[in-house]
Amino acid sequence: MATLRSRRELLTLSLGAGLVLPISSASADDSAKADFEVVHVTGRVGWLGDALREHFGLELSPEASERTLAIVIDSAEVLPLIEDSRGRAFRLDERLRSMNLDLVVRRYQKTPVLQVLQMLEVAADGARAELDYWCDVCAIAMYELKLCECCQGPIELRRRPVTP
Ligand SMILES: [Zn+2]
Repeated sequence: MATLRSRRELLTLSLGAGLVLPISSASADDSAKADFEVVHVTGRVGWLGDALREHFGLELSPEASERTLAIVIDSAEVLPLIEDSRGRAFRLDERLRSMNLDLVVRRYQKTPVLQVLQMLEVAADGARAELDYWCDVCAIAMYELKLCECCQGPIELRRRPVTP
């Protein structure tokens, strides 16, 4: 898991430094894919429809109101999130939609959608905790709220403090 470790090291180095902070770029190995940077974005996640109404006065069709997730970053910029296995966590667990968050995301050059790589909760005092889901029985982590992939039992939202 070298990539995970290096990402964690980069994350530790860059925490608390800024709103949108590049921490690494796509390597040559990724040249066949879309170009992206891995950055931190801080703010609140909710439905794109709510954010567009609040910040731009735009009204989506009712059937589209909860179709897309977005993060409103601290400068009131509204950026949609890709709803893959990590992004979907925000649809499945409303607790995540009431937190101040620091997300590690891929930001692509040619599309505004962000891909969530890691979720951190930001406490009022600025302390950060990494969020995921945990099954005590099986001792495995998951990225969204569901029954345990292994034992089919309940899992819990886990907060692991990140030392700056
Ligand atoms: Zn389990």
